[in-house]
Amino acid sequence: MQTASHLILISNRLPATVESTPEGLQIRPSSGGLVTALRPVLAAHKGAWIGSIDSSDMALESPLELPADGNPGHNGYDMIGIPLTPAEQHGFYAGFSNEIVWPLFHDLQSRCNFDPAYWKIYSSVNRKFADVIAHAAQAGSRIWVHDYHLMLTGKFMRAMGLRQRIGFFLHIPFPPLDIFEKLPWRSQILQALIDFNVIGFQPPRDLRNFLGCVRRLLPDVELQRIDDDMYQRVGAQISQIRVFPIGIDFNEFARQAETPDVTARGAQIRRDMRGQQIVLGVDRLDYTKGIPDRLKAFRHLLQTHPQVHRKISLVQIVVPSREQIPKYRELKQEIETLISQINGTYGDPGWTPVHYIHRSLDRTELLALYSQADIALITPLKDGMNLVAKEFCAAQIECRGMLILSEFAGAAEQLRGGSILVNPYDIEGVAEAILRAYETGPKERRKRMLRLRRKVRTADVYRWFDDFNSCLAGAGAA
Ligand code: UDP
Repeated sequence: MQTASHLILISNRLPATVESTPEGLQIRPSSGGLVTALRPVLAAHKGAWIGSIDSSDMALESPLELPADGNPGHNGYDMIGIPLTPAEQHGFYAGFSNEIVWPLFHDLQSRCNFDPAYWKIYSSVNRKFADVIAHAAQAGSRIWVHDYHLMLTGKFMRAMGLRQRIGFFLHIPFPPLDIFEKLPWRSQILQALIDFNVIGFQPPRDLRNFLGCVRRLLPDVELQRIDDDMYQRVGAQISQIRVFPIGIDFNEFARQAETPDVTARGAQIRRDMRGQQIVLGVDRLDYTKGIPDRLKAFRHLLQTHPQVHRKISLVQIVVPSREQIPKYRELKQEIETLISQINGTYGDPGWTPVHYIHRSLDRTELLALYSQADIALITPLKDGMNLVAKEFCAAQIECRGMLILSEFAGAAEQLRGGSILVNPYDIEGVAEAILRAYETGPKERRKRMLRLRRKVRTADVYRWFDDFNSCLAGAGAA
């Protein structure tokens, strides 16, 4: 098996589910933000993907090698699944990653549970990943680690003597110093990150925050500015620290948005909404997405502007997520209570102010909604990028929709020209933005959407991949 390919990608989860059946192992490709972004680009490269797998029904103790040869579920690349025990899953994934790093890096430190036991497991699982990478790597492999679950792998790889180029891309935000320094393991994390040859962030905001933390917490590290979006570490090895805003496969989304299935479903949605403007929210169930604040803003609009009654409806998709964590279950309850209050107060037999969908939609349904929405209301409290904003633009073939976007989404940096930027905490401000979008005429809508689509088309996922990959190829080897 050729595990040590040209490019090795590492993420928390392998982009496939593996099931043990009487006929042997069944491998099914899975979906998810990172996989959706990387599948099209990796299919065009030879490579391997390393990630954890749920092996509860297989009693695995060592990594599961899944060669690409003859297996259509693999999209052309080898996969190596790392089995994690339930205790590792809990401490590493639910614990350190999602009860500490996730809230802290989204500026929500009051939601953190700084349990020292989580740190020990996070560290040992990162070492386990590094060990598998070290075995899979050959001379010349490029190693690209993804996201906040695996921030220590670089340090362990170096300690194991790995000399290949290693890169790290953070998909979520990086917080400012006064928040990051609350982390009891702040120096260890920062020191481990700096061991990568390439460190990538989404918007310039995160790069600036990272540099501020390095200057304060690692004063011996010397940084040299190349330009606003790129810095270099000077020393024994050269690290590049850069901005690489992730994109989507624009052409593919736009193509699918025009297929007969999507157009037919879109027409049906239009008929069902009987001339009302559709305000669309699409989010994973997560407290960083600002769903309750958004519902309050919509309620405020209905309270203060009765002229929009029966003329506007919010369609809110909430994709189930992390339901094993109690805070996520509480959030679901809060959202459902708010929606029923709004519908109970303002709805009548001919009009439902908020349509609530609590499930994951398939691509056809999602594209039909994106293409028919008159307003996309995307108001995360903080977000690394927010791909929904970009997918909405790609699917807006008729250029009718307005984009209302949180200024704290990474996407705001690229999409400020064309969208209406809002502070998601400002309930009156968001309500005013919805009204403004609602009242915007077709000519202005078209102009704005054309501008947005140009931006999303140019900075697509292929460009993101090429930029990072060539930076990694050119980065100074250790
Ligand atoms: N998504 C999906 N089904 C749905 C709703 C959303 O597959 O019913 C996808 C959507 O197409 C997007 C991703 O979920 O690619 C959400 O990515 P985003 O960056 O907006 O947020 P994240 O969930 O990664 O924080």
